[in-house]
Amino acid sequence: MQHDNGVRWNGISLVAGGAGFLGSHLVERLLSERRRVVCVDSFLSGTGDNIARFASHPGFRLVRQDIQRPLPLDGEAIDEIYNLACAASPPRYQADPHHTMMTSVIGTSNLLELASARGARFLQASTSEIYGDPEVHPQTEDYVGSVNCTGPRACYDEGKRAAETICFDFLRVGRADARIARIFNTYGPRMRADDGRIVSNFIVQALAGERMTVFGDGSQTRSFCYVSDLIDGLVRLMRVDPNPGCPVNLGNPGEFTVEELAAIVSRKIPTAQGIRRMPLPQDDPRRRQPDIARARTLLGWEPKVALDEGLAQTIAWFSQQRAGRKLEAAE
Ligand code: UDP
Repeated sequence: MQHDNGVRWNGISLVAGGAGFLGSHLVERLLSERRRVVCVDSFLSGTGDNIARFASHPGFRLVRQDIQRPLPLDGEAIDEIYNLACAASPPRYQADPHHTMMTSVIGTSNLLELASARGARFLQASTSEIYGDPEVHPQTEDYVGSVNCTGPRACYDEGKRAAETICFDFLRVGRADARIARIFNTYGPRMRADDGRIVSNFIVQALAGERMTVFGDGSQTRSFCYVSDLIDGLVRLMRVDPNPGCPVNLGNPGEFTVEELAAIVSRKIPTAQGIRRMPLPQDDPRRRQPDIARARTLLGWEPKVALDEGLAQTIAWFSQQRAGRKLEAAE
């Protein structure tokens, strides 16, 4: 327990990627637990808007930096490091593929060195993408994956796979207490409107009275987890004792085709205009559904928010953002 300015803090968490979609929700959760938070972000895909609400919080500190450079953090008693720093939507991570790969490899390595020096626990935000286009369905953590290492998604998939390797190398020799969450598609408020992922694209398009862009024939599937569920899973994995010593899938097992999602969004947004077909991107995984037996057993975790409810919250948030922008334009 640390004291300053009369506040009793329950420790210090570093959140790399703290200005991003998931990162900013995690920062909020940690501050609510009276932990101090050092938010590290390069603002490549994170935004000032996501963290503006914390700017005057006494427990919040921002370090504007790319994790590929070693962090200038002298002497702070950091006891938890969450690594959520990496562009995560296909258009964004493919915009500068070499940078994406190095964020996972060099950035994760830098943060593990810091965890090792401080004796901090380390949580790596890994991804269902490490399974590639899976031949095993639903995906269990034992499945080693099927990734095309020369394709356009490889900078993200292989980078995240290498990051897991580095985490396990540190863990095996006792250099860091590293934990790995394999995060499946997550959605909710604070996704960027221009992020390029399916949930944000469909909602933004439907609210604007445009047709929703369905890539390919729309029969590919994804499983969508609401952000509050995911954050709870991350924190549980960081805190569980002992370290599970194995990766843990975090996602909602409810599986939907892209076309089904378009139909659901259509029903929820009166201005929706149907769909428009676009070419299927190369190496787009055909199916994806997490097996969460391990998370249930080890963490006592499972998602609570159904797609219907999560989408309603997300649509309400995007509608507010849109109304705010209209108001600004009118002033
Ligand atoms: N997708 C789509 N229309 C969009 C964006 C995505 O049909 O406007 C499809 C995409 O081809 C993929 C699925 O939706 O099959 C999920 O894509 P997303 O980019 O959200 O995540 P990821 O492919 O990384 O799971």
